[in-house]
Amino acid sequence: MAKKQFQAESKRLLDMMIHSIYTQKEIFLRELISNASDAIDKLYYKALTDDKLTFNKEDYYIKVTADKAGRTLTITDTGIGMTQEELENNLGVIAKSGSLAFKNENELKDGHNIIGQFGVGFYAAFMVADVVTVTTKAVGSDQAYKWESEGADGYTIVPGEKDSTGTEIVLKIKENTEDDQYDEFLEEYRLKAIIKKYSDFIRYPIKMDVKGQRPKEGGDNEFEEYEEEQTVNSMVPIWRKNKNELTAEDYNNFYHEKRYGFDNPLKHIHISADGAVVYNAILFIPENTPFDYYTKEYEKGLELYSNGVLIMNKCADLLPDYFGFVKGMVDSEDLSLNISREMLQHDRQLSLIAKNIKNKIKSQLQSMLKDERDKYEPFYKAFGRQLKYGVYSDYGTHKNDLQDLLLFYSSKEKKLVTLDEYVSRMPEDQKYIYYASGESIERIEKLPQIEVVSDKGYEMLYFTDDIDEFAIKMIMTYKEKEFKSVSSGDLGIEPEANEKQSDAEESDNKDLFESMQSLLSGKVTKVRASKRLRSHPVCLAAEGDLTIEMEKILKAMPN
Ligand code: ADP
Ligand code: MG
Repeated sequence: MAKKQFQAESKRLLDMMIHSIYTQKEIFLRELISNASDAIDKLYYKALTDDKLTFNKEDYYIKVTADKAGRTLTITDTGIGMTQEELENNLGVIAKSGSLAFKNENELKDGHNIIGQFGVGFYAAFMVADVVTVTTKAVGSDQAYKWESEGADGYTIVPGEKDSTGTEIVLKIKENTEDDQYDEFLEEYRLKAIIKKYSDFIRYPIKMDVKGQRPKEGGDNEFEEYEEEQTVNSMVPIWRKNKNELTAEDYNNFYHEKRYGFDNPLKHIHISADGAVVYNAILFIPENTPFDYYTKEYEKGLELYSNGVLIMNKCADLLPDYFGFVKGMVDSEDLSLNISREMLQHDRQLSLIAKNIKNKIKSQLQSMLKDERDKYEPFYKAFGRQLKYGVYSDYGTHKNDLQDLLLFYSSKEKKLVTLDEYVSRMPEDQKYIYYASGESIERIEKLPQIEVVSDKGYEMLYFTDDIDEFAIKMIMTYKEKEFKSVSSGDLGIEPEANEKQSDAEESDNKDLFESMQSLLSGKVTKVRASKRLRSHPVCLAAEGDLTIEMEKILKAMPN
């Protein structure tokens, strides 16, 4: 019997498929299971409009069977099946999606469950198989057909034997080579793990025959082997459940199950969005800073699911850098089961979701700050620096999102305060928001420069983080109040009568200042009488925009 040739483009595509599109071989199972789930969904949709068909959800499942000795892996579904023509069209033409056509024909709007649309997923099977055999019987048909292919050099279709409606796909798993391992795809535990990882929330049961040992009845310490059919996937994802049904413990378990962290999350955010873009998300604000958080190694991102199927472990585009500490997942029906990152980045739906998520995180943090200060402060200890970097980065474009989430130590309150709290306490004659920078609160309190401001009774913010002053320079003004370093030239505070002397002091001690200046040449630019000293004999001051602290930091930075 003559082999039919794949179309030329198909050959190239198939090659690309096997060698470059997917980075992990294990993905093939996700693809085949998604197709099986789609096939059952199609039957379901058909039953909605076809009186001759009934759909009892219990009758529908996907089964995965490994035969180690025969080196085959079989994926069976009880879905809609394919006619001969459909086999030809869907599996003979790569990048042709019967599922997409089905959606179009049936005018299914966004929001239904069928995953496929690119028409390439099936061929992922050739990453792990030498031969793929598909035996399928379409709904309402008496004749089954068998499609078989060894990859790029074509396929055959012949009549086949199959009792029930649906599709059975047999993969002849490749032999191990020096570089590549395939045996694992015949191991029960490995298959279970892959199904759990990618397809846990497929809405139909994925069954496997699982072997185990159990104590023999009546026997002393004797065990017997047994085999039973188990459903491997949990089917209903927590994020599709009603928030009211879930407890804090459920969310904590999910956090740990997903290995988002070893800590307990400080807060969870459960979103069921039903607006311009439909998605579910569960997000967590961790309690502890991951050990690699402030390093290049840390990778931000959320897990991304399309209709219950994992597409990406860390989708970075879903989170702005300044909320990079957020863990969690997003599932959307509006996303197609995309195959490459590049395609995702241009997805309009994805950027809508990202924007939405950003706002949810922001308002969650705001309400935590307002109502649960005892939780917000540890959060701020762990991730406040990230927020300040966020204010500073991208030329301050995010400052409006972030400035109200910042906390600084207050000279008056002796605790962390917000900018809003500071400004609302400002006496009428106070022009500026004053701040003092230093290594620690203790150091700052010894600074001669703070005396003028504190004598005046004004509150100061103490900046002890390198980034603080840089972030504030980006904010520039808060509620129309400018920020002012206590060490800057003009503090906007009227000198007291006794300070007026300093002009006279300047001229009286001209010689002294000049000789001090020459002694310190190269270290200071000028020595002069100060109007701001109280109990200290001398202090350092900077001129211009950069304060001494900022100069120190900039000097310490690698060029
Ligand atoms: P996609 O799922 O993106 O459409 P695939 O390459 O995964 O692309 O599958 C191609 C087509 O083959 C599907 O659209 C579907 O029409 C058909 N198909 C694949 N697997 C099955 C199956 N188990 N049952 C019925 N049809 C299937
Ligand atoms: Mg598919």
